[in-house]
Amino acid sequence: MNTTLRSSLRLALVLAPLSAASALVACAPEGASDLMDGAQADAVEAGAPVLAFGDSGEDVRWVYGYLRQYGYFANEALAHHYPGWKPAASREPADPEVFDEAIEEGVMLFQKAYGLPITGAVDEATLAAMQKPRCSFPDFYTSADAAAGSHNFTLHGSKWSKTALTYRFANYTSDLSQASIRNAVSEALFDWSASSPLTFSEVSSGEDITIGWYTGSHCSASAFDGSNGVLAHAFFPSSGGDVHFDDAESWSTSSSSGIHLETVAVHELGHSLGLAHSSVSGSIMYPTYSGVNDAPRDDDRAGIWAIYGAFSAPSPGGDIHAGQGLSAGQSMSSYDGRFQLVMQSDGNLVLYKLTNGSVTPLWATGTNSAMPDRMIMQEDGNLVLYKSSGAPVWATGTSSTANRYSRLVVQNDGNLVIYNQSGSPVWASNTCCH
Ligand SMILES: [Zn+2]
Ligand SMILES: [Zn+2]
Repeated sequence: MNTTLRSSLRLALVLAPLSAASALVACAPEGASDLMDGAQADAVEAGAPVLAFGDSGEDVRWVYGYLRQYGYFANEALAHHYPGWKPAASREPADPEVFDEAIEEGVMLFQKAYGLPITGAVDEATLAAMQKPRCSFPDFYTSADAAAGSHNFTLHGSKWSKTALTYRFANYTSDLSQASIRNAVSEALFDWSASSPLTFSEVSSGEDITIGWYTGSHCSASAFDGSNGVLAHAFFPSSGGDVHFDDAESWSTSSSSGIHLETVAVHELGHSLGLAHSSVSGSIMYPTYSGVNDAPRDDDRAGIWAIYGAFSAPSPGGDIHAGQGLSAGQSMSSYDGRFQLVMQSDGNLVLYKLTNGSVTPLWATGTNSAMPDRMIMQEDGNLVLYKSSGAPVWATGTSSTANRYSRLVVQNDGNLVIYNQSGSPVWASNTCCH
């Protein structure tokens, strides 16, 4: 690392914390010049961590403040607001300005939560993660009855007792038109409903989830901190599921400027549905914001399935509606009973013709080697085979706005067809006409 880079890293470490620190203690940034006078930059060796065990000073205090704000150390505000929350670290530092075992443990837990190499030192990657805008929901927050498992996603342990949910806007940001805001939030909700049994509709009163924009101190969760730093937070189902956006941010529907509303909305709504943070970089439920990322990943999908199930059971007869599907071993038949679509336990989806006691395969996905165990007729119009990890194995590729709420039909002529809402076929197995 050259001197310039080291100096800029040092500067970044000193400058970035100011907004975060002011949110914590509401202090004026008079200390800025003192912080920037620090001479430690010269002591940083090439390749050495920015901060490590034994270091001391304002920068260590900032690291402590960051970890405390996001749930690693004792924090009365978090304890008050999030029932059952406990600090992630097992002990408190004796002096917040000294990098001791407690701060080292906090840094290691942070690195674990962010999928970073676990070194216990604040290296460049760790510092970069700490400087990103983020959700203020505490890391490592799960209730006592949350499901344990080997997944990367984390469940809070509370859920909605129904799958048809409603929402209402308490107010709007002036950064965007109401139509743009509605569209972004609707897209975000659609991302969650596409491959789950959940549905969402906007109402004018009596809603489940309330969505709004606020600044500064506005609710018992935590105060918003102005531009950057904390972008938004949300409440778990057991606390009402509401979503609050920091109106000091510049909200945008573009990928090139401002904070992308749909991206942050998908993440916060994940909390509203019962998901905590994921350690998988790139997943929707990863705590920090790194630009546009508005499609749930495997880990997010597996998380929402773990709470609500992958889909609802197929309706009787030859149709599967949006949001329904087949688990391994399940099947559906044409109305006349002559054709049967089977999600086989070997991972193959097969259409059979049943005649005079004989069974003839007409069509198959050929996915037995990849072993998917569920077929979902998604609300986005795509028919997809998934593994339980959330990984897609096969799809018709018919996801589009025009194909929303499509249905899959095993026809009496032996053809397997996806029809969109207006009744137009968008995909077929081309196995007619028997
Ligand atoms: Zn979050
Ligand atoms: Zn709030």
